[in-house]
Amino acid sequence: MPKLDTDIRYLAGVGEARAKTLRKLGIETVQDLVSYFPRTYEDRKLSPSISSLPLNENAAVVAMVASTPTLSRIRKGLSLVKFRVVDESGSMDITFFNRPYAKEQFQRGESYVFYGRVEGSLLRRQMNNPIVEKEGAGQLTGGIVPVYPLTAGVTQTLLVKLMRQGLAIAAEQLPEELPDDIRQKHSLCYVNYAYENIHFPPSPEALAIARRRLVFEELFFLTAGLRLWRSERARIAVTPCKHINLAPFYDALPFTLTGAQRRAIEDGVRDMCAGTPMSRLCQGDVGSGKTMVAAALCYFAAKNGLQTAFMAPTEVLAEQHYKGLSPLLERLGLRTALLTGSTGAKARRELLAKLAAGEIDLLLGTHALISEDVAYQKLGLVITDEQHRFGVRQRAALSEKGIHPHMLVMSATPIPRTLALILYGDLDVSLIDELPPGRQKIDTFFLPTSYHERIYNFLRKQVAEGRQAYVVCPMVEENEEIPDERKSVMEYAQFLQEKIFPDLKIGYVHGRMKPKEKAAAMAAFAAAETHILVSTTVIEVGVDVPNATVMLVENAERFGLSQLHQLRGRVGRGKHKSYCILLSDNRNPETKERLKVMTETADGFRIAEEDLRLRGPGDFFGQRQHGLPAMRAADLSCDMPLLQEAQTAAEELLRQDPGLVLHPLMREKVTRMFAANAETLN
Ligand code: ADP
Ligand code: MG
Repeated sequence: MPKLDTDIRYLAGVGEARAKTLRKLGIETVQDLVSYFPRTYEDRKLSPSISSLPLNENAAVVAMVASTPTLSRIRKGLSLVKFRVVDESGSMDITFFNRPYAKEQFQRGESYVFYGRVEGSLLRRQMNNPIVEKEGAGQLTGGIVPVYPLTAGVTQTLLVKLMRQGLAIAAEQLPEELPDDIRQKHSLCYVNYAYENIHFPPSPEALAIARRRLVFEELFFLTAGLRLWRSERARIAVTPCKHINLAPFYDALPFTLTGAQRRAIEDGVRDMCAGTPMSRLCQGDVGSGKTMVAAALCYFAAKNGLQTAFMAPTEVLAEQHYKGLSPLLERLGLRTALLTGSTGAKARRELLAKLAAGEIDLLLGTHALISEDVAYQKLGLVITDEQHRFGVRQRAALSEKGIHPHMLVMSATPIPRTLALILYGDLDVSLIDELPPGRQKIDTFFLPTSYHERIYNFLRKQVAEGRQAYVVCPMVEENEEIPDERKSVMEYAQFLQEKIFPDLKIGYVHGRMKPKEKAAAMAAFAAAETHILVSTTVIEVGVDVPNATVMLVENAERFGLSQLHQLRGRVGRGKHKSYCILLSDNRNPETKERLKVMTETADGFRIAEEDLRLRGPGDFFGQRQHGLPAMRAADLSCDMPLLQEAQTAAEELLRQDPGLVLHPLMREKVTRMFAANAETLN
């Protein structure tokens, strides 16, 4: 008897090749298979008769083949198989395109179920390429059928067939992992019912019951896992840091820190003195000064004899942090270094030797910080900037290098409060909810492209006053699948250079440039050698050029609000009045409403909540880099009430049974859930 962990290769109809394509969908075992939930459902209940079929809608009907199928080849590469089907009420034409074998498949006089879009007219109905099965088969039609996300080589029919096999195996074996009292208290169905009905619901009600259980379960285990983990981490002992007077650090700054920055630093210091590893998220809007919080804690760590690794998502940012921080920290006696993919072999060797000997206090860099051969003498603090840009594995690899380093994660993506618990449920949060003084409001305009000429004149005026501008341009979509950002950036830059600003210097950056070229383009802009920088969203995060005062975004409708907010945050970083111009000719009222939000508020949190409301959580969860298990059932844009219910239940349970000692099945379940990324949230 196959088991839940049996490889799907052993199911009927799955050979080596199919197993390989199924693996692409994450399906390796029977358990994976039955946990592969439908994306949506189609109602394929049988209609009573052909004459009752509604036009221009999908429907299923039983009918008998009334004419011998004919095959005609219209032209090269196009064949048609046609025949007519009937029932007592009328007839319908069936056509298959490019399926010549359909000619042999259908026998005159036999009955089948046809499911498809009903076209033609009420007098002459027609279906093209319908889904067909023998009358009475009941596999693909006859009720509500699941629609699965597919990949090349895997069809709905195949998945449905496999799913039936999988469910038959699972029915005997799926463990009931939800504690019984919780299941009852929250009116949740049994696990078997849930799996059976999420795939093959006989009715919408059955589907709703199944879904409720699975969503609850998912969010319940997720919350429980995060809490459990956090409490276990709180038991890890590390040598507590000693309190250090930070006054020399504060005195070395060219400005006074804001209250919010001070509080975040104090939070971090308290964590590091506590004797357990810090896991803190420092969240603050763009420009709120998170880097200084990182710098302060790095100073604090160094004075405690600990090394700091500070990872940025791109070389440009790593270099920028290095340029910004190393003069300050070197003056305070710290030894700093930069390690990126562009560091030469010899320099790299020397640097690594120093690092291992403890002669470097702060190492800044990109992924290179976590290469195999990078060994620290005493790594005590790991800072990741803009963590959502980092892959799970990268952060994991880094924390493995220290014993249990303190972790500080900085994020400028304001997460709506409702999502924060899920995303960061394992982290303590310091909120920097105050901008440095003297920041001016960035005037934001939402305009149609008929303003182009006026806007170009405005850019020219700004440049004449010594300022600089960013132009974020849309992607060219020649090939629908892969918009070519490289082409659009270069063409737009060339257009501006030749046609609009022949007397100015136009630079450009795009994601496919080599890191060295990117860095050079950024450096030229930072040094004001180029006046206007054309780019894609590679400049979205973290770049700091205080002299830049205009952010012009073409085709603004293509961006999410949070992304636009990040882009806007690239200007208004110096003492000059700054502007953000969003261009769009899009007439969709929702799009207009969305873009208008940008002109009305500068509050990143409000913007994020609007984004969530208008676009759903895809923006936050789409990145899949937060280190949490993927959601199979839950959809956080509509399952919030259930999330709260599940969270409360999980917290209550953990209060009664802190280590889940009394719930071994559940303990095993949540441990397994996090096993793949166990190191990440450390
Ligand atoms: P972000 O939170 O977006 O990472 P940064 O740390 O890059 O923000 O800071 C934005 C700018 O504000 C930098 O130029 C930084 O030097 C400056 N800054 C940071 N803190 C203060 C402060 N307390 N007063 C004035 N300027 C500050
Ligand atoms: Mg930053």
